[in-house]
Amino acid sequence: MKVEKGKAVGCNEFETIDADVLIVANKQETDSGFLRSLTGVVINEDGTIKIDMQRMTGYEGVFAGGDMLPGENRSATIAIGQGKKAAKYIDAFLKGNTYQKPEKHLTASYKKLHMWYKTDAPQKEQDKLAPEVAIQNFDEVNAGLSEKESRYEAQRCLSCGNCFECDGCFGACPEDAIIKLGAGNRYKFNYDACTGCAVCYEQCPCHAIEMIPEPVKSI
Ligand SMILES: Cc1cc2nc3c(=O)[nH]c(=O)nc-3n(C[C@H](O)[C@H](O)[C@H](O)COP(=O)(O)OP(=O)(O)OC[C@H]3O[C@@H](n4cnc5c(N)ncnc54)[C@H](O)[C@@H]3O)c2cc1C
Ligand code: SF4
Ligand code: SF4
Repeated sequence: MKVEKGKAVGCNEFETIDADVLIVANKQETDSGFLRSLTGVVINEDGTIKIDMQRMTGYEGVFAGGDMLPGENRSATIAIGQGKKAAKYIDAFLKGNTYQKPEKHLTASYKKLHMWYKTDAPQKEQDKLAPEVAIQNFDEVNAGLSEKESRYEAQRCLSCGNCFECDGCFGACPEDAIIKLGAGNRYKFNYDACTGCAVCYEQCPCHAIEMIPEPVKSI
């Protein structure tokens, strides 16, 4: 096999090897024929499906993602990400709207974080089979993490630039200018009450708050 344009292709060299069992596990072709009955769905030559900016196929209300889409990087992570994106468009479609991507904030680099908030905690090492044991069977080599260990790892996330609702700014604001919107909905700023003292900004651990000059009001 050789790799051409990111895809494995045969190179006409053959080799005979002894084997007890042969498991054919190559290719990632999509069996999309069942979609042919839906008018408007455009199926490419290789079986992949065309979608629009809303991740919808040519048939209204049918969305697609994962290996079904053209692209060289077909992996579980990409398929999961595309599923997550499609879910936002599907949700909006079902509500009769079009999903609008929110503006992305600037990257909160390490220097912008307030590390006093976090405790240094070493990364959990996964159990691994020794090479001499691993070659004897098809058992998982890397044991992965248990639910408890995964939750612990998730807590080590620095949440760079993304508010994780620690309530720090809400508690610190001397003007009560920060309004809590309830779990999962973060906060709203009452700019009429805000004096721009920057206390919220200075103590936010993950740089989720940005101070910007007040727009000059035209008279
Ligand atoms: C051998 C191999 C190794 C791989 N290794 C990795 C790896 O190490 N890491 C990685 O990230 N990715 C890996 N991948 C890629 C990864 O598995 C795929 O990119 C990913 O599973 C795509 O997800 P999907 O949901 O689009 O499709 P799938 O996971 O294929 O899911 C599609 C599902 O739809 C079902 N289905 C199909 N037709 C119909 C129908 N008509 N009606 C109802 N159901 C239907 C199928 O049975 C299947 O369950 C590998 C792929 C292969 C083939
Ligand atoms: S800048 Fe000061 S007044 Fe304004 S929201 Fe932040 S802490 Fe409150
Ligand atoms: S903006 Fe920052 S300080 Fe305020 S709740 Fe979110 S993470 Fe905490």
